[in-house]
Amino acid sequence: MIGRTFIRNFLIFLFIGSVAQLAFAAPLKYNEIDYDMTVRIDPIARTIEGKSIITVKNPREINLVLGQAFEVTEALFNGNLLGIGREQANQPHLWKIPFSFSQQHQFEIHWRGKLAQLDDSLGHQQTLRRPIAASGKTGTFLPDASGWYPRVTDGLARYKVTLELPAGQRGLVAGRLIEESESAQGYRAAFEFSHPAEGIDLMAGPYVIETQTHQNINNRPIQLRTYFHPQISNLSRDYLEAVKRYLTLYEKWIGEYPYTEFSIVSSPTPTGFGMPTLTYLGINVLQLPFIRDTSLGHEVLHNWWGNGVYPDYRSGNWSEGLTTFMADYAYKEQENSEAAREMRLGWLRDFAALQPGQDAALAAFTSRTHGASKIVGYNKAAMFFFMLRDELGETVFNLGIQGLWAVQRFKVTSWQHLQKMFEMISGKNLQPFFTQWLERSGAPEITISEVKKVPADSGYGLSITLKQSAPAYQLRVPVAIQSQVKTEIQWLDLHQEQQTFTLTLPDKPLSVSLDPDLRLFRQLAPNEAPPILREVMVNPTTETIVLTDKGEIRKIAETLASKLQQRAPKLIAANQQLSAAPTLIIGLQPEIDAWLAAKQLPPRPDEINKKSTAQAWTLARADGASLGIVSAKDAASLEALIRPLPHYGRQSYIVFDGREALEKGIWPMQVQQVKVE
Ligand SMILES: [Zn+2]
Repeated sequence: MIGRTFIRNFLIFLFIGSVAQLAFAAPLKYNEIDYDMTVRIDPIARTIEGKSIITVKNPREINLVLGQAFEVTEALFNGNLLGIGREQANQPHLWKIPFSFSQQHQFEIHWRGKLAQLDDSLGHQQTLRRPIAASGKTGTFLPDASGWYPRVTDGLARYKVTLELPAGQRGLVAGRLIEESESAQGYRAAFEFSHPAEGIDLMAGPYVIETQTHQNINNRPIQLRTYFHPQISNLSRDYLEAVKRYLTLYEKWIGEYPYTEFSIVSSPTPTGFGMPTLTYLGINVLQLPFIRDTSLGHEVLHNWWGNGVYPDYRSGNWSEGLTTFMADYAYKEQENSEAAREMRLGWLRDFAALQPGQDAALAAFTSRTHGASKIVGYNKAAMFFFMLRDELGETVFNLGIQGLWAVQRFKVTSWQHLQKMFEMISGKNLQPFFTQWLERSGAPEITISEVKKVPADSGYGLSITLKQSAPAYQLRVPVAIQSQVKTEIQWLDLHQEQQTFTLTLPDKPLSVSLDPDLRLFRQLAPNEAPPILREVMVNPTTETIVLTDKGEIRKIAETLASKLQQRAPKLIAANQQLSAAPTLIIGLQPEIDAWLAAKQLPPRPDEINKKSTAQAWTLARADGASLGIVSAKDAASLEALIRPLPHYGRQSYIVFDGREALEKGIWPMQVQQVKVE
């Protein structure tokens, strides 16, 4: 799920002068903005009518804008008539007020207009791309970036919004509910946001509201609410309970929740947005049972990172990485260490699968626009915080997190602010660490180049030579040393392209493994990650072999290949020499077994039960390119795979009975290990 910051990025944002560059300096108090707004919305007629009093204290130059879809019926500036801010009907309204020595300016704008028809069929990406103020009986969503209210473009703002809706409809904006009433005439609610906020998003719908009060860590009440469509109102209680758990977790970990409310709001479109004091999730998303165990916690945590401490987009967005680390990843750690390691493996594997040109430095990430930006902006950034915790130790790391919250709350905050905070708490110079991980794209490639016994006065002497790709990173590399007694981790400070470390060990060493726990963000060695089926699905160089000449089965196999690869398969002959590219092989069971034997490849693994109707598995070849093998009992069993198999790309093997997946799994990792001879 993603933060509201993604809506925000549709506006070009310059916080010029609104925050000082020096660490922890107080923001300069320019353009202190307050909105006092009343809006009436009719979702059936799709109309909006509003009045806003905008007060700007200590004004610099002011740009006030309102979207082109709206008509201005009255505009006043310091009590005098102001033009409507545009010459032609298809332009946005723009009022520019030059700098003057006034203490305060006040605008009063009355506007009205027609809202777009809410399109329930839009996907999340489309909703992101089109920040449109839309309304309808099933829901109203006015994202800040749609320009639905007159807005000062430069700076954070406090606000009070009074919202009026016809009977049967309820709605909200982020903030504290200060007034609420309902009658046959309609619904009215007023909200106040008294911290400087990045913008205002408004939501409404035929909601059933469920309210509970939660005592926060300092015994202050937090009002928890669900605004759910009637068809999912039975889910309210479970969601509210889950929110309480997350609030308790993060208040203990970081500090007091900054607001007096938190609401979960359902959307008729399949979106997922986090905003201060609330999250807006699609009805279909909320119905997925795992959402309250994963995405909900991520969105609750955005009240601290993203909507509590604001990222400085000029220097990159750290908030998705920190939120992923303390939510999605932290839940895996709570589960067990294997689940956590598997998530790290997933991050490294996805990174290794990036095509040339898709990678970018972490500092360049501002928001998620495509899959590759998630791999860097969320995953690499989360791994950054994981490595930082290894570097500082958990206690110091958590003090840094708490310090960041105490000092930077409601302030625009850069990666450099984070660095200074962790340096201050730890007393360490973190410049090399931050610089290499934030400003360099790619990842170091690390190998064990030699391990040998050396003489020692007592115990056992061992020398380990490590190599890394140039230019060298400053790394602490964990190596596991296995003896008959135990496995012990040693951290080696690798600062050069090649370095030899001499250790004296109490037990006779048998073997040495490089970072077996995947604690470093690094380029995985070929075969280090277990091959998964996705490689023969997404790699554009993949070749396909169909092991049958029976017309009907061949046709099914080719359809399956094209569904898996989402393109016409690149077919090669069965007897052709395998190239360096990944290869997908499809055939009936005896043909597959014969082909594997002829190619001197390992036979069907034990995990694959031959009594099933079909199996798929991966095989790593010595040169690194993997094979994906699909084997079926007959034509019908093969055809049954066309629909389900494309969904199992993250597996190394899977066994089917008809369309049903009976068993699946991932092969163990091939850790880089060198025996001590
Ligand atoms: Zn997020």
